[in-house]
Amino acid sequence: MSRIENQFTVHFWGVRGSIPCPGPNTVRYGGNTPCVEMRVGGKRLIFDGGTGLHVLGQSLLRQMPTEAHMFFTHSHWDHVQGFPFFTPGFVKGNTFHIYGAIAPDGSTVEQRLNDQMLHPNFPVPLQIMQANLHFHDVKAPSTINIEDIKVETAPLNHPGEAVGYRVNWQGGAAVYITDTEHFPDKLDKNVLRLARDADILIYDSTYTDDEYSSPKSPKIGWGHSTWQEAIKVAQAANVKKLVIFHHDPAHDDDFLDHVGELAASKFPNAVMAREGMVLEVPSKISLSESFSVSNFSA
Ligand SMILES: [Zn+2]
Ligand SMILES: [Zn+2]
Repeated sequence: MSRIENQFTVHFWGVRGSIPCPGPNTVRYGGNTPCVEMRVGGKRLIFDGGTGLHVLGQSLLRQMPTEAHMFFTHSHWDHVQGFPFFTPGFVKGNTFHIYGAIAPDGSTVEQRLNDQMLHPNFPVPLQIMQANLHFHDVKAPSTINIEDIKVETAPLNHPGEAVGYRVNWQGGAAVYITDTEHFPDKLDKNVLRLARDADILIYDSTYTDDEYSSPKSPKIGWGHSTWQEAIKVAQAANVKKLVIFHHDPAHDDDFLDHVGELAASKFPNAVMAREGMVLEVPSKISLSESFSVSNFSA
């Protein structure tokens, strides 16, 4: 088996929530909206299509024809706005399997990706995309099997609903939970079930606890969580590594450095998501226990 076919890695292409925020104060963590890629045993899984998807797409141009499974948590702008600019989607010969839940208004992920590309919002309709696009409706909770990869889904607590995903492969697990709000008095059982014993948990940590419950400008009911809640989930679910994700666009590099220090003091295996970061899910077959963090170039 080649090294690629034997690897499970997680690549961060966009880590910011709500709106892209490029600029001199966000260069170290990055300003692109959510897009996380998992390379699992030679297959490519992509989570969300924020503006980070555009950057990933440019890197895929050197690897065509290509095939990927794309999972959408929901279709708020920050999670779909990179899709119309995903260049490999316009190239014949590429294949994309696209998964997303039916929204409360009854619309499918296909309809919602299509609608954001209609006039007067966008000049080029989805039908112009020449790649093979296969759409799949997700009903959470459920399990999606892609050969030997098992993807579990669960509903999250977010206005308009969202879906969390857990990827299981060869005894390792990486979990993507973003756009979810914690409950005031108990941990969310759907979140705990997805996160159980995970090697890597990526979790919506948009706010600090102080911001969330600030008397002047509370964020209660906005559908997001905090880094302190992320640690509670990681501890309760016996998570090995926690990734603090979906950074508030108002949080600059220095602020996020500070959050990272505080989080690591409470949960030593907590890291801040930043563009370009790569994490490896340790292979259970070789019994390697070490994580590696490295940079990769787009
Ligand atoms: Zn979001
Ligand atoms: Zn959202």
